[in-house]
Amino acid sequence: MNVFGVTGWKNAGKTGLMERLVAEITARGFTVSTVKHAHHAFDVDQKGRDSYRHRAAGAHEVMLASGKRVAQMTELRETPEPKLAELLARLSPVDLVLIEGYKREAHPKIEAFRQEAGHALIAPGDPSIRAVAADVSLDLDRPVFDLDDTVAIADFILREVGLLATHAPEATGLRPPPLKNDCFALPPGVNWTPVDEALAELKERLRVVVGQEEVPLADAAGRVLAEDLVAKRSNPPLPNTAVDGYGFSGGVPEGEAQFPLIDGRAAAGIPYQGRVPEGAAIRVLTGAALPDGVDTVVLEEDCAIGADQIAFHGPIKQGANTRKAGEDVAEGEVALPKGRVLTPADLALASAIGFGVLNVFQPLRVGVLSTGDELVEPGESAGPGQIFDANRPMLLSAIARFGYEAVDLGRVKDDRDGLRAQLDAAAERVDVILTSGGASAGDEDHVSALLRESGALAEWRIALKPGRPLALGVWNGVPVFGLPGNPVAAFVCTLIFARPSLSKMAGSGWVEPLGFDLPAAFSKRKKPGRREFLRARMRNGRAEVFKSEGSGRVSGLSWAEGLVELGDEGHEIVEGDLVRFYPYGSFGL
Ligand code: AMP
Ligand code: MG
Repeated sequence: MNVFGVTGWKNAGKTGLMERLVAEITARGFTVSTVKHAHHAFDVDQKGRDSYRHRAAGAHEVMLASGKRVAQMTELRETPEPKLAELLARLSPVDLVLIEGYKREAHPKIEAFRQEAGHALIAPGDPSIRAVAADVSLDLDRPVFDLDDTVAIADFILREVGLLATHAPEATGLRPPPLKNDCFALPPGVNWTPVDEALAELKERLRVVVGQEEVPLADAAGRVLAEDLVAKRSNPPLPNTAVDGYGFSGGVPEGEAQFPLIDGRAAAGIPYQGRVPEGAAIRVLTGAALPDGVDTVVLEEDCAIGADQIAFHGPIKQGANTRKAGEDVAEGEVALPKGRVLTPADLALASAIGFGVLNVFQPLRVGVLSTGDELVEPGESAGPGQIFDANRPMLLSAIARFGYEAVDLGRVKDDRDGLRAQLDAAAERVDVILTSGGASAGDEDHVSALLRESGALAEWRIALKPGRPLALGVWNGVPVFGLPGNPVAAFVCTLIFARPSLSKMAGSGWVEPLGFDLPAAFSKRKKPGRREFLRARMRNGRAEVFKSEGSGRVSGLSWAEGLVELGDEGHEIVEGDLVRFYPYGSFGL
């Protein structure tokens, strides 16, 4: 059993810290029990109480039971005080036992420290104290937390006992086997592949290539859920009031109504313990669990409030201004599906239904490699005939925007051995490789040559403009997208082919961009046979396209804010015709 102690001198804030930790850690979905040791009398030692009287009369054990809790008390009398280990053995299994007191036992502890309590720190002389939670800053050889920073203290304790993954989380799931060499093979005889067919093939053949891991809820935004999230707890967990007001039983008919007020109130997190008698009302604050005897609430703004009664005008329906338990999410319901890319709102939902840790897919690592003798690093000096590597920064940042781990694999010359060595090393570090350049069938097109040599190349001559050629292969089990060298073609192929493929491999399923139809602000004649994507933007409700279609024109990519898609068939577009526009944002950029 995982145990962790809270120690400290009298008035150091131990019980407050225990209370906050229990609330925080249970809210994260862990089960917690506590043990408390004291040198003074306990809550149960109050003279005159029933249990006290049973024990004082000589009972060996007293069992106190109600519909809410059971307490078992043993009178030690002559027997020695049991050891901590014996007490722990009596508890049912839980994720964590927090122990208050037992300063001298060897289990790991955190020391609560409040300067005004006027004691010296225990920690320096006690190695079992792993950290200190203090209301002042301290210079110590171990972590010091702000006494009120419950989240950080809970993180620390959970990490110490192994309930929270440390910085490099261990994979919890098996890694799937590598993709097969023939996963991209084109059916024999196929020459030009229409875009939709190519996409359908990729969708069909690719699968998840990453393992799974557990991450704290707070770190899970943007990650991909690896299993359906089934509510551990209903939201709300109990019927409660939706407003500040007064609660009573039943509806009220049309006309004036008066209710005597009883003492006490119910607030969020501080329930009213007793029962509200029929015909009486009680003060309730938003979020408070409805006390026994209350099923309806009237808004305080609607009441005249006297010292011991309220008056208001009916009618008010039974159940008004209350929330039913589970009206949002019921325990056991699938609240979020496997494959969901977690949004900030999803984290609120996951938290509300009892999760502190989520099982997600490990991040997809995508390597980016540029090829070409002519390339130099951006910003360096370039000789005549040399050009700056424009593709790598573009692709790396696009991958990061898609939500994957972008791995810079650098540049390689048009040299087969160098490229082979690079691909070998890359296949060890990443889950997918994107290369640009060298993907045609020319003398210096070493990407396609090497993939062909390895027996795992499919040169997909896709009927797409701009976009040729796309070489798909598998290198040591790692899929390789050999993108065209031209920046515009590399960009379009990345959005149209690589993005949904990466999503499928990352566990979030195949994705399709959301486009909409706009009147064209241009005219264009297009031959049948190839799908075309034009660099475009929306102005005054119409789609404008870049003045040139040259696939080396990087400025047009930057000018554009999206792409216009023209279907495979021939088109004669005149101004005002509807064309399909995809903003860059719909591709996750
Ligand atoms: P390739 O496919 O290697 O024949 O390249 C086609 C065109 O794209 C050539 O004009 C290359 O110089 C250019 N190109 C290739 N890679 C890049 C890159 N990383 N950045 C800018 N242009 C490139
Ligand atoms: Mg080249």
